[in-house]
Amino acid sequence: MDGSLKRHRDTVVSWLFVVGLVSVLLMWTLETHTGLINRVDRVAYPVMAVTFAALPLLLRMLPRYRQFLELSSYAAVAGYFAAHLTEVVLGGEERPVYALASILQWLPFLYVVAFVIFSRSVARTAAAGVFIATAMPPVCALLWTGRGLSTDTGMLMLNAYAANFVLLLTLTLITALYDGYERAARQARHLASVAHTDMLTGLANRRGLEHLLDGLSVREGRYVGLVLLDLDHFKSVNDRFGHLIGDELLVMLARSMRQTLDANERAGRWGGEEFLIVVLDADIAMVMDTAERLRQSIEAEHHPIAGQVTVSAGVAVWSTSRPLAQALAEADAALYAAKAQGRNRVVVQAAPIAA
Ligand code: GH3
Ligand code: MG
Ligand code: MG
Repeated sequence: MDGSLKRHRDTVVSWLFVVGLVSVLLMWTLETHTGLINRVDRVAYPVMAVTFAALPLLLRMLPRYRQFLELSSYAAVAGYFAAHLTEVVLGGEERPVYALASILQWLPFLYVVAFVIFSRSVARTAAAGVFIATAMPPVCALLWTGRGLSTDTGMLMLNAYAANFVLLLTLTLITALYDGYERAARQARHLASVAHTDMLTGLANRRGLEHLLDGLSVREGRYVGLVLLDLDHFKSVNDRFGHLIGDELLVMLARSMRQTLDANERAGRWGGEEFLIVVLDADIAMVMDTAERLRQSIEAEHHPIAGQVTVSAGVAVWSTSRPLAQALAEADAALYAAKAQGRNRVVVQAAPIAA
């Protein structure tokens, strides 16, 4: 769980304690005034009120014991429900149907709370545990007292537990379905990232760059700098030192580029030993500066076997109101000119190429 999600969850838990405290105080007041309070609640309400008020503080003071405190307070509430239901069935109430109904209606809240605060697997176990712990003792007590399930209390309990069982099953199925969606979405994100990444250098690949440029083209009137960068005489590096050293050099230069780029600059491998650098919201001077910075940083690199390499760069500015292919063709023509002028230099296309 990441930090912000954990903080969010901890806030939800603290609020649940506040809700628990308010509910207990309300029930305590109501039942005391109407005279319906039983002997379990006379003790349980004040104990729960103090516990709900103290637990948020305890959780803050003892963060290492957070899970233990949460699970044990959850189990204690479930235990209270089980004890109270059993007490009612055993004849501790004048109006057992009312007493049972007033407890049973809170049970679904316990299942929902489990799924909100615990991890999925813990929640399923905790909620199932609550179901069994709150159903078994009162049902056994009912059978033990010989009153059977066809009485009013028996029918009420059967109905309530059937509804609770369905709710529990629904929560389990919904969360299992949601887990499936989350897994699929995570996988899709991973596949998209793999599909957009060049495996050798870790930079964006051509598809990744096209995706980025597609996104930028949505907003008209934006100016995007393009630097097409090509290694000089790279074929001879491969010929002299082998492809593996050539690959190493590509990885080294990609790392150097990543370190040189600013936050508004994105680099990707356009193909082979050609890289495209996209400069967001740039004018020609800014793009020239980016290209020159990269050229110098690559020139300063030294591979232990292949030694020094240089790059040539062609620069263009793409206004998103015109076709991207036109701006790319300008950068390509500028790169061609840089090669023709002797390499290891940055050239900007003098006049835009006609569409
Ligand atoms: P120029 O200065 O004109 O660009 O010369 P060059 O030798 O770099 O140009 P050319 O396009 O003729 O050669 C590019 C070479 O880049 C050819 C190819 O073997 C090599 N290359 C392309 N992709 C890779 C790669 O992934 N790994 C390695 N090792 N070499 C690659
Ligand atoms: Mg090339
Ligand atoms: Mg080359």
